[in-house]
Amino acid sequence: MKKTVFIGIGSSKGDKKNIVMGAFYALQTIDPKAKLSMLYENKAWGGVAKNMFINAVCQLDTDMSAEQLLQRLQIIEQAFGRERIVRWDDRTLDLDILLYGEEKISSPTLTIPHPGVWERDSVRVPLEDLVGKNKIQELKS
Ligand code: ATP
Ligand code: MG
Ligand code: MG
Repeated sequence: MKKTVFIGIGSSKGDKKNIVMGAFYALQTIDPKAKLSMLYENKAWGGVAKNMFINAVCQLDTDMSAEQLLQRLQIIEQAFGRERIVRWDDRTLDLDILLYGEEKISSPTLTIPHPGVWERDSVRVPLEDLVGKNKIQELKS
């Protein structure tokens, strides 16, 4: 069964806008009808990263399981030179699964909905581009 998935895209190091657009092209290989929000510039969340971030959200439909999708996203992150040394530090590319259909997942590798969805403007604002404010209220409940 296909799920509608929302993926948070963030970049704070390197050619940020091009990296975000490149990540979107990579996500189109999962679903050629994938949609992208507008791009936004935000301050880093969490007080670790120093640079400004470019953020966007991608919506797509997929048959992949959440775990399979996470693995695919990590391969795309690596292709853009992602290093994982300090959590929340500046990075070329971060791809997070924000929502995976209506599912709630809590495992050692996955928390869905992503804990940042409702509290981070960097995620909520681009998500609103795709689903509208009313729908966000609905998803939240
Ligand atoms: P945050 O998750 O707070 O935005 P981050 O994106 O910087 O922080 P990462 O270093 O990208 O964190 O990922 C750390 C781990 O988070 C990953 O190895 C992955 O297993 C786990 N993780 C848990 N839930 C999710 C999710 N919904 N999407 C992506 N990764 C997740
Ligand atoms: Mg993140
Ligand atoms: Mg991440």
